[in-house]
Amino acid sequence: MVSKNKGLIIVFSGPSGSGKDTVLAELKKRDINMQQSISVTTRDMREGEVDGVDYFFTDVETFEKNITEGYFLEYVKYGSNYYGTPKKRIEELTDGGSNVFLKIEVEGAGNVRKVFPECVSIFVIPPSMEELESRLKGRGTETDETFNKRFATAKEEIKRACEYDYIVVNDSVSLCADKVCSIIEAETHKFSRMKALVDDMN
Ligand code: 5GP
Repeated sequence: MVSKNKGLIIVFSGPSGSGKDTVLAELKKRDINMQQSISVTTRDMREGEVDGVDYFFTDVETFEKNITEGYFLEYVKYGSNYYGTPKKRIEELTDGGSNVFLKIEVEGAGNVRKVFPECVSIFVIPPSMEELESRLKGRGTETDETFNKRFATAKEEIKRACEYDYIVVNDSVSLCADKVCSIIEAETHKFSRMKALVDDMN
């Protein structure tokens, strides 16, 4: 019998306004091998979000208890809220051959890389800082203060793009999703990932 390859852990990051959520939504519409990890957070639920779909929403006490129990692969305090990636589900999915996307920020991405150096990390950037500015302003939800804060955070995050394996420019959502698919396809066919299969044939 031929060994089944493990799925990839795909760390997917990008600053606010890069459009990473839209790209993920586009990828989910396609017939590709992908699952998304659902994080746990202590932040308030936003309008339209669903518990257990967008996040598992919880309180600080429970989150901190989960930390001590080793429930998370990684977690961060981002702003004033906790965010964490549940470990067990990722292992189950990748063991079963599914590729799992972790939509997380740069600090958490670094921590995942320490535990899983073989993970594939992708950083989404906007075509330009002018475009990022117009996207953030275009949301119509930003005051000058929140815009300045988001823009400054985005600049800091982009400085850490060098820590990622791949950079994809989100000029068009569909083209950006194509690029991500190409990366996954190529990564899946690396010898290190095909070795078990090749060995089975010898
Ligand atoms: P938001 O509150 O806008 O949903 O997310 C804020 C930031 O936290 C985003 O950059 C998002 O990708 C990141 N994030 C969401 N879940 C996790 C997680 O489990 N771990 C880490 N490190 N970051 C996360």
